[in-house]
Amino acid sequence: MPYPKPTRRSWAEPFKIKVVEPLKTTTRQHRVEAIEEAGYNTFLLRSEDVYIDLLTDSGTNAMSDYQWAGMMLGDEAYAGSKNFYYLEANMQKYYGYKYLVPTHQGRGAEHIISQIMIKQGDYIPGNMYFTTTREHQERAGGAFVDVIIDDAHDPESPHPFKGNVDLQKLEDLIKKVGANKIPYISVAATVNMAGGQPISMENIKAVRKLTSSHGIKIILDATRAVENAYFIKTREKGYERKSIAAILKELCSYTDGATMSGKKDLLVNIGGFLAINDREIFDEARNMVVVFEGLHTYGGLAGRDMEAMARGMEEMTKEDYIRSRIGQVEYLGQKLIDWEIPIVRPIGGHAVFLDAKKILEHIPQDKFPAQTLAAEIYVDSGVRTMERGIVSAGRDSKTGENRHPKLELVRVTIPRRVYTQAHMDVTAESILEVYENRKKIRGLKMVYEPKHLRFFQARFEKI
Ligand SMILES: *Cc1c(COP(=O)(O)O)cnc(C)c1O
Repeated sequence: MPYPKPTRRSWAEPFKIKVVEPLKTTTRQHRVEAIEEAGYNTFLLRSEDVYIDLLTDSGTNAMSDYQWAGMMLGDEAYAGSKNFYYLEANMQKYYGYKYLVPTHQGRGAEHIISQIMIKQGDYIPGNMYFTTTREHQERAGGAFVDVIIDDAHDPESPHPFKGNVDLQKLEDLIKKVGANKIPYISVAATVNMAGGQPISMENIKAVRKLTSSHGIKIILDATRAVENAYFIKTREKGYERKSIAAILKELCSYTDGATMSGKKDLLVNIGGFLAINDREIFDEARNMVVVFEGLHTYGGLAGRDMEAMARGMEEMTKEDYIRSRIGQVEYLGQKLIDWEIPIVRPIGGHAVFLDAKKILEHIPQDKFPAQTLAAEIYVDSGVRTMERGIVSAGRDSKTGENRHPKLELVRVTIPRRVYTQAHMDVTAESILEVYENRKKIRGLKMVYEPKHLRFFQARFEKI
């Protein structure tokens, strides 16, 4: 039979490979023992025992030759490093905020902004929580309130902007507790916990309008704002012909500041920052960063790390880069859709989210279906994924009860510029194998539960 002709033209990664890192394969028996030793928690596996690592896109990026060259230009002065000034200039150029405070990673920025802006008894609305963000808000005495649209909690809703804020929910909260109890709304772009779903420009504009009239600030979680910009460009009317850089800057212009994990969009392995327009908040943040991170011109980072971040900003906004980044995630997701495996739709920006509630519908949420599914995929192929469900959601800070999130997901996260389409094929085939044998899978029980961010270190046993 002749080889079938393609029905469409293929795309390829807009880079070639200069350095390679060999992957290790393991036997099934080895993986059965490794996951048991790790307490059925993929966070506790040794990376050496992992074949394709799709645990997270955080700090797992491959840097470019341009970034590596920049590392050699690290100015490791304690104060006033030239890399800081370059980073500051690029942050102003690409994000458009006035002031920059570098931090060791995103949570360092979250800590500082939460401590400065939140008072005991305050409320912080947000378009779905993020683990570290909420933890810092609660530590500062605030209560997080979810104001994302209902569609975000429905894995089957095809809404193109599932990250949108529900303006009615926000208005109701303002009426209920009063604007003076709401220092800011925490807006994430994209929304990690909803499946990497974007917020639309129209929505953020409306949030700006509503909050301005009440004197409430907007702090953007800009961690994946470039990926969000790509979705605006491809899905929102009027933005088709705008550049990614222009869309990113417009998005930020409706907000008062941002916390940033450089380990995502910025194509580096470590780093983050806080950006803010308000001079007084900036002065306080500069004071605090010295106590918790490092001097205000390095914030816990080496000069070379700041240089790599600054250069990452230039690369992340390139159209061919972002197209292939999201294209690879779509490639994996579309394969699973074609095989009728339940995933969150539309496919998100940084990951494909498997609907564990549906796939393992015979396992109740208290027996941790997503945690179980991630362990099973690892045993099948050595592909590492992570739980995003009841374990990640943790316990209610007031009642101490388990939170029962509507979404019980396994996140298959794609590091930037690291794996090829062949790795995506192997991953998809492993997920299919586990899916076809799903009826035989049983749940887990938790045998160790840490007090904070339990998903990182919790341990489980097979029932
Ligand atoms: C990763 C992440 C953070 C925290 O950043 P770190 O660099 O890991 O501290 C905050 N918000 C979102 C949406 C993230 O994905």
